[in-house]
Amino acid sequence: MTQLAPFYAMNNVIQDYAWGSTTSVNELFGIANPEGKPQAEIWMGAHPNGCSQIWVDGEWQSLATMIANAPDAMIGAATQATFGELPYLFKVLAADKALSIQVHPSKAQAETGFAKEEAAGLAASAANRNYKDPNHKPELVFALTPYLAMNGFRELPEMIALFEQVNVAEIEELVAALKQGSDAKALAAFFHAMLSLDGERKDGALAALMSYANAHADDKLCALLIDLETQYPGDIGLFAPLMLNVVMLAPGEAMFLDACTPHAYIKGTGLEIMANSDNVLRAGLTPKFMDVEELVACTRFESMPVGEILTQPLMEAGISHFPVPVNDFKISVYQGEHALRTDSAEILLAIDAPMTLRCGEAMLTVEKGHSAFVPAATGEFSVDSAGRFARAYN
Ligand SMILES: [Zn+2]
Repeated sequence: MTQLAPFYAMNNVIQDYAWGSTTSVNELFGIANPEGKPQAEIWMGAHPNGCSQIWVDGEWQSLATMIANAPDAMIGAATQATFGELPYLFKVLAADKALSIQVHPSKAQAETGFAKEEAAGLAASAANRNYKDPNHKPELVFALTPYLAMNGFRELPEMIALFEQVNVAEIEELVAALKQGSDAKALAAFFHAMLSLDGERKDGALAALMSYANAHADDKLCALLIDLETQYPGDIGLFAPLMLNVVMLAPGEAMFLDACTPHAYIKGTGLEIMANSDNVLRAGLTPKFMDVEELVACTRFESMPVGEILTQPLMEAGISHFPVPVNDFKISVYQGEHALRTDSAEILLAIDAPMTLRCGEAMLTVEKGHSAFVPAATGEFSVDSAGRFARAYN
């Protein structure tokens, strides 16, 4: 086997999903977009649906292949023993339109659900397949621009007040029952009933909701409903902003998206890091398959206080570490020059300016919006940038 280098330049896949911004990645990073396609997500990692390449001995090689050839050196023996793969996927995500409202299962739910669908012989690509793998999918998003999203259920009194204000006749009884119960059980029943509305009752409820929104278009929440309706007309997810916390992250702020917690990205560009999984249960703002029973079974019906949405970073000189309650990934954002040491495979992304990595005689400079892969075996190295760089590791 050839000797590993201390770090490698990466060539990353850009996904052109329809909801992606056609301008943001270009504006922030100068990555050309001659065809004017959406530049929705830049994937940095070894996921089969968009594996990065790394520059090895004068040619591009698949990162997944390089890891498979030397797992202990590339991702570290401990990570190989625990995960058997690079355990995280790191992304730049640029949303111009809302992504579906979703819940990710817990690890235990994913293991059970995956085993059940495998046993039932459901094809991996089947539209009604919920579990693509047996893994959980915790996520953390770090805002590069103002970043609008939904995360967690609102406090019940606030949610009830919003529904009473909008006062939709078709769901009056459901709101009354929620108010009567005012607990997790009542919220579960309400959420289930709302997502199950259909036919004339659903159409009538949505018409009433939108007529209220249009009459109060100067209200921020109503303006959001009007905007979402242009993207997803007739979608039951238009009620989600009344149920979920709507949050605008300022650039530099981050939040964690926990298992079993409904969330959605609405608009903005950020960095996202997640466990290596594709398990998504949808809850609206989507034309795709929705399994309401499985969704409700995987949802924790607990309110998330607004004060707990943001992830508070641990600060050191020129460093913000964003703590997460999982061991699949870590993420920190640095500014300036730093001496680092690998304990796992790392992916470094230059955010504002070029960054230069050094290790002994070796040196690598990558432009902003581009990344470098650092094998677990590298040990001590340094990074210097006139701006910020992000560090993904585990
Ligand atoms: Zn998600």
